Amino acid sequence: MVYSILKKYGIRGGFLDQHFLVNEPILDSITEAADLQDDDVVLEIGGGIGNLTERLVARAGRIIVIERDPRLVAVLQDRFHEVSNIDIIEGDAMKVELPAFNKVVANLPYSISSPITFRLLNHGFEKGILMYQYEFARRMVEVPGSKIYGRLSVDTQYFADVRLLRKISPSAFTPAPKVWSAVVEVIPRPPVFEVKDEQLFFRVVEAAFGQRRKKMKNALTKCNPPLANQEDILRLIPEDFLGKRAEQLFPEDFATISNIIYEARDN
Ligand code: SAM
Repeated sequence: MVYSILKKYGIRGGFLDQHFLVNEPILDSITEAADLQDDDVVLEIGGGIGNLTERLVARAGRIIVIERDPRLVAVLQDRFHEVSNIDIIEGDAMKVELPAFNKVVANLPYSISSPITFRLLNHGFEKGILMYQYEFARRMVEVPGSKIYGRLSVDTQYFADVRLLRKISPSAFTPAPKVWSAVVEVIPRPPVFEVKDEQLFFRVVEAAFGQRRKKMKNALTKCNPPLANQEDILRLIPEDFLGKRAEQLFPEDFATISNIIYEARDN
């Protein structure tokens, strides 16, 4: 089916992260994981030739697809011209105004994985079923103590509960990408710890993992501009934190550190 659509429209892919998911059971499992209901408004980023889209329109109340490639927008318009619960937006998902939606289901363009994820998280939604490059997905869900636990893990888990649902082989796509992929469930929720200044929290996390081989004391004082270069601020941060490397700290530990710096600067 998918191959005949590619042939019919003369689409090859390989450009703009165009690797089309052709494995029908995997397409079904992504749709299942989204647990679609009649009143769901679903955003799909990068509709491609509509192989995931056709499953979404059959199950949810309304589907809004953002697709950047005008040739694929034409394919989607042609394929779904008789479908009434779909809106197709031609544009860059990083630039167009995001519509209101409660679920997001997408085989994402991997080159915008990080900015589009945080754009979506800042916009707000109830549930996301999103395909990423496997290594990126692992970094999103990782916990302290691992070499791949990092800024992406802490920043993502600040906004949401994340779970890697399944690893996907390159052979599930055409043209096959060079990398493995993974489907991730993203459930946004309010932060589970108090952060007094979000900007400062994210800067502490960035500084900590920017120098991940260094202990926190060095990471906080040697970043530019330094986050805590005065002895009186450093003295307030528990020695246990200052003597550890970033990968040994939990997300809430970074919150504690940033809250201490925030309070100390305020006084
Ligand atoms: N949904 C299809 C599937 O599962 O086979 C296609 C997924 S393909 C990995 C990514 C899609 O995103 C392509 O159709 C590509 O043209 C589109 N795309 C790439 N960059 C984009 C962007 N910045 N905004 C919107 N769509 C984009």
